[in-house]
Amino acid sequence: MNTPVFRFAPSPNGELHLGHAYSALLNAKLARQTGGRLLLRIEDIDLARCTPEFEAGIYRDLEWLGIEWERPVRRQSEHFGDYETALKRLIAEELVYPAFMSRGEIRASIADAEGRGRLWPRDPDGVPLYPAFDKALSRRERERRMAGAPFAWRLDMEAAKSRVGGALSWTEFSSEELAAAEQIDARPEQWGDVVVARKEIPTSYHLAVVIDDALQDISHVVRGRDLYAATGVQRLLQELLGLPAPRYFHHRLILGPDGRKLSKSLGDSGIAALRESGASAADVRGKVGL
Ligand code: GLU
Repeated sequence: MNTPVFRFAPSPNGELHLGHAYSALLNAKLARQTGGRLLLRIEDIDLARCTPEFEAGIYRDLEWLGIEWERPVRRQSEHFGDYETALKRLIAEELVYPAFMSRGEIRASIADAEGRGRLWPRDPDGVPLYPAFDKALSRRERERRMAGAPFAWRLDMEAAKSRVGGALSWTEFSSEELAAAEQIDARPEQWGDVVVARKEIPTSYHLAVVIDDALQDISHVVRGRDLYAATGVQRLLQELLGLPAPRYFHHRLILGPDGRKLSKSLGDSGIAALRESGASAADVRGKVGL
């Protein structure tokens, strides 16, 4: 059997909290138990929100937790060329289209449809699907608009699904021990025409993740339950781009005292804040049950 390869892939747009600690510690434990490798990937495509300070904080927190990862670390912002190559392929195969509607225009168009009694579909995160009007624009009109306004490259979900043809699924482990697994139906259409890239940035989260997981030979994607449904979109992109599919385990989320998902602005569950208040790495492991 090939050596298992795990990864922890935080975005440096805030401080790590207990949820990240659990994810990182679980990946490290599984890598150790399976004789596998652990990679750290910095997902910093959002140049406006990611900062060197948050990135330094990630290294500091992981080191303090006793986690060891391989160097060099892959920083997505240094690999836009890889994503651009894939994007060009999707453009050439007419699987993406430039979408010009602003947030305000999207909101207005949906409010208008709902005002007329139509229930607008929402994605698994509760966000209304993109009204795909731009798909109907002529080539000339597209080119005219692309020269001016900002736009996003969106996946033509219908075209993408028919390109792939049959049913899509992924392998999901049933527990932290990765003993048993089942096949889960991928339902990318739940997300509508997702953003694959933007005018200024040749990628989005989904595109960068599938390319990196493939380039880094990731065999096991172990990440939070909040990304479970997104796996459907990622499986579709893997098929479209001819990339291998890793196996997945979407772990439980660590919730705050109010029962809600932790966010990066929640100071008291931040790893740095815990450390500064005198907690030890063992205390953090205890808190997340590892
Ligand atoms: N960068 C993503 C995050 O911080 C995780 C991506 C993934 O694990 O696939 O939420």
